[in-house]
Amino acid sequence: MRKELFAGLVLPPLTEASPGADDALLAALGPEFERATRRRLGRSLAIREVDAGSCNGCELEIHALGNAFYDLERFGIRFVASPRHADLLLVTGPVTRHMREALERTWTAVPAPKWVVAAGNCACDGGLFQESPACLGGVDAILKADLRIKGCPPRPVELLRGLLTLLEAAQR
Ligand code: SF4
Repeated sequence: MRKELFAGLVLPPLTEASPGADDALLAALGPEFERATRRRLGRSLAIREVDAGSCNGCELEIHALGNAFYDLERFGIRFVASPRHADLLLVTGPVTRHMREALERTWTAVPAPKWVVAAGNCACDGGLFQESPACLGGVDAILKADLRIKGCPPRPVELLRGLLTLLEAAQR
């Protein structure tokens, strides 16, 4: 017991250091993203996320968008529970046969104008799972993706950069 107490005093914390490399990029992209959402929507971008068959790696990066390091809600990104409140459907994972109908029904419930974004290699083209008989392929097998964000998984800043590209293109 004494040994553990001593180790607790002298050892460094086991928590990870904050992500340093993305800080400068985030500082540049964040305000740009906020301006783009204000110009295009006049408010925050509301996102409904659908896991169409992911391994959960992409979800972990998407969750990181809201953590204390990234805190992207301050730049105008909001995740909503209902597709009826969403501007954009963010899809992860290959589309499995079991999730096809759920994906289609969720998309139908999003009011127009709306976008669909494939996040991660699996959502782009099936990725690691494209040969699986349980999978239909990427999002394009079911819906026409407006944007594909590559990566396995894509980092939060890559997700932000992709969404910014989409918003900027939508202004033209
Ligand atoms: S892209 Fe990579 S992290 Fe994302 S669902 Fe596929 S295997 Fe998992």
